[in-house]
Amino acid sequence: MELGAQMTTASPGDGTRFDGTRFAMIASGSDGNAAVLQSAETLLLIDAGVSYPRLVAGLARLGLVPQQLSAILLTHEHGDHVCGLAALLRRHRCPVATTRETRQGLGRRRDLRSQAAAEWIDLRPGQPSWVGGLEVLAFRTSHDARGPVGYRVEAKGARLAYATDTGHATPELLEAAAGCDLLALEANHCPDLLRHGPYPRRLKERVASDRGHLSNQQAAEVLGAAVSARLRAVLALHISKINNHPDLAMGALAAGLADAGSEARCLAVGRYGSGWIDCQTSGTHGRANEDGPKPHALGETGAGAASSGRSASR
Ligand SMILES: [Zn+2]
Ligand SMILES: [Zn+2]
Repeated sequence: MELGAQMTTASPGDGTRFDGTRFAMIASGSDGNAAVLQSAETLLLIDAGVSYPRLVAGLARLGLVPQQLSAILLTHEHGDHVCGLAALLRRHRCPVATTRETRQGLGRRRDLRSQAAAEWIDLRPGQPSWVGGLEVLAFRTSHDARGPVGYRVEAKGARLAYATDTGHATPELLEAAAGCDLLALEANHCPDLLRHGPYPRRLKERVASDRGHLSNQQAAEVLGAAVSARLRAVLALHISKINNHPDLAMGALAAGLADAGSEARCLAVGRYGSGWIDCQTSGTHGRANEDGPKPHALGETGAGAASSGRSASR
C-alpha cells in the first residue's frame, strides 16, 4: 500500500475532539521540533520549534487549528524547540508550561520579551502537575541548556514519554519511560558517522558529550527500561541528517526492542513529522518523512523495516 494513503485526511478543524489519546509529530530534527498530544478536548503542543506557517500547516494536516491548543510544553530554550513560540503567542495566548530555568532562558530572546503577559506555568522536575487537564511530569534530561526536561503525560489511561536533546539517559528519563504505551525518543547520531563526518571538532565533541544528544545505541539502551507489556510504539526523533540515517536509528531501536523481547513498532520521524499514532492501540496511521513530500520507506512500520534497519546498523 502506498504510504501516503495511510495518512489521516481531514480538513482543518475536524479534530475538535478525539475520544482517546493520540500523538503526532509536526516536525523533528535540528531544523525544528514540535509535537501534539490530543486527549478528548485537550490539545497539548510539545515544543514550538517551527515557524507559525509551518505549525499551521502541520496542524492542518492533522485536522487541527492553532485555536484548539490548550497549552504548550517546552523542553528547553534552544531555537529548534522554541523559534515559533513568539509568533504563536502573539496570535494565541495559551499557557506555556516549562521549568523556571527554561523560562528565564527564553527571556534572553528579544522576540519573547513582549510576551511577558502570557500565562507561564513553572514546572518542577519530578513533581506531577496538571496542564490542560492532563497529568504532566517533567523529568530532567542532560543537555547544554538551562533547565532541560522531557515529559511524561498521563491521559485517559494512556501514558506517553517524550525525551529529546539529552547527552545520556538520565535516571529520571529511565524511570519516566517505564510502563509507557508510546515512547518518543531521540536517536540523534551514529557515533561512527559523527566521528568521521564534516562537523568541526568542537561541535562533534558537543554532540557526543554528556550534555549533547543521544546516539542510536544510547537510545536503544533506554528500551531495556522502557519495555513492558504496555509498550506499543517507539518513535525515533531528532535524527541527524548529517551524522545519522533513519535506517540506522530504526535498526538500533529495533534491535533494542528485540533484545528486550518487545514487539512494539518503530517509526523514524523526520522534518515532515508523522501522522497520528493512537496511544492506546498504537495503530500507526501516518508516515514519517525524512526527505520531503515523497514518503520515506521508513514510514512503513513493523518488523520488515525494522529488521532491515537492524542489519544495516551492524
Ligand atoms: Zn537542544
Ligand atoms: Zn534540538
